[in-house]
Amino acid sequence: MEKKETKYIVIAGGVTSSLGKGIVAASLGKLLQARGLKVTVIKLDPYINVDPGTLNPYEHGEVYVTDDGAETDLDLGYYERFLNINTGKDNNATTGKVYQNVIMKERRGDYLGKTVQVIPHITDEIKRRIRIFENQDYDIVLVEIGGTVGDIESLPFIEAVRQMILEKGRGNVITILLTLIPYLHAAGELKTKPTQHSVKFLMQSGVQPDVLICRTEHPLGDELKHKIARSTNVDFESVIESIDVESIYQVPLKLLEQNLDKVVLRYLGLDEYLEKEPDLTAWKSFLDRYFHPKDTVDIALVGKYVELHDAYKSIREALVHGGTANGLKVNVKWVNSEKLTADNTAEVLQDTDGVLIAPGFGSRGIEGKIAAIKYARENKVPLLGICFGMQMAVIEFARNVLGMKDANSTEIDPETPFPVIDLLPEQLEKEMLGGTMRLGKFEIDLKENSRIREAYGKDRIAERHRHRYFFNESFGERFQKAGMKITATDADSGLTEAMEIEGHPWFVTVQFHPEYKSTVDEPHPLFKAFIAHSYKHKTEQNGKK
Ligand code: GLN
Repeated sequence: MEKKETKYIVIAGGVTSSLGKGIVAASLGKLLQARGLKVTVIKLDPYINVDPGTLNPYEHGEVYVTDDGAETDLDLGYYERFLNINTGKDNNATTGKVYQNVIMKERRGDYLGKTVQVIPHITDEIKRRIRIFENQDYDIVLVEIGGTVGDIESLPFIEAVRQMILEKGRGNVITILLTLIPYLHAAGELKTKPTQHSVKFLMQSGVQPDVLICRTEHPLGDELKHKIARSTNVDFESVIESIDVESIYQVPLKLLEQNLDKVVLRYLGLDEYLEKEPDLTAWKSFLDRYFHPKDTVDIALVGKYVELHDAYKSIREALVHGGTANGLKVNVKWVNSEKLTADNTAEVLQDTDGVLIAPGFGSRGIEGKIAAIKYARENKVPLLGICFGMQMAVIEFARNVLGMKDANSTEIDPETPFPVIDLLPEQLEKEMLGGTMRLGKFEIDLKENSRIREAYGKDRIAERHRHRYFFNESFGERFQKAGMKITATDADSGLTEAMEIEGHPWFVTVQFHPEYKSTVDEPHPLFKAFIAHSYKHKTEQNGKK
């Protein structure tokens, strides 16, 4: 059989950042997937950090962790949630990573004495990253370029795209520019000029966009679309409007209404896929449930980065999926752990049906998390603790139930008399952590008669990790005797992966990150169970009133 040629759809952004390129890439991917094509998505980020692992969430939102342990851009989360695919280290590269590879090769002498330059060496490395899935049987690779055209940082990426179009032909590599059509309230008008300028920027680099997707608050209308088409050299039907919608999960259907998938497939010469309509049955039924919930449930999300909702993107979306799976709308109450004290916690959390304790690093806001955990434990409010959230629950239990005054994690207080959360003994640590963080997928065994086992409905699971510290097993017996049980362990090492409180309706804390694996097609079982129990709590409380 003849090997099929992988085709490429490049998505760049114009006018401003934050227009939702990731969502557009994922949505277009969804439409193509629904027509039977095998797709994946690559994100190229023009910043110089080698990966986002070291970035403060306020800078760039959450760090998304893949099965293979890569710390990546949060857009990969959209790709996985929309497309129900697995991504990994090859799906994300930054300028830093590109340069790191080129410089490593230079040091090894691979360039044989040549002067190493942006063109061709950096652009070659970018093209290598774009083509990394070439032999893996994908029909289409979508390539999302971060930042905005016209930025200095984006130039080598656009140049690499220009070269790829030249080398592979225009029918094999197409370019979509996502732009903004601002609405001027004073003039009562939509303005196309910034879009025209963005297209010019792109054309100065030798790339003519094939499709424009225009973000707008108001419908564009045919006249304006004609104007945009004329001034940017783009076909009329390739000017697509992307109007603000209530839920990001509506975006694929909005793009479908305007035939974006058909436009793209024609450009790529894949007309044979046009015959059948895309199968979006599961997607539509998700949306149907999302927009017609039987009731609501209020969940407090306790964390220190709550001002920037992107910092907890995957958790937020996993709550949406878990809610929809139960026919419920989840109202998230964002609770800043730094503002939570022993005195105000009851008041802040009094009307919430469930409490989620977010992951985190460092000492800021931990006493607030501990206060929230104490409240949920004592008042029997369902609680899900994730990673740092589990560690804080262990500390709370040690201090308030086991009487270990000043118990802590050695991450926070290296001198604590009760290091209930600690690094592993030296040797094991090296073995498991490869020096620093324990990242990515590990297999986990679940114990009989536990909430976690009940939620998953099986004994063995695989979940993703991003942590350094662990439950200190030398305290294990005291915890277990007092009712905080270890209910999941790492399949190889036996290390603690989950702890629950006996006699509490639903108090489940996990060392791993379930949120990364929740998708529209497969809502995560732990989130599903957490929402179900939170709703149960709500109805019981209402019954008491
Ligand atoms: N700071 C904690 C650790 O390193 C928890 C990390 C997290 O919540 N992702 O173990």
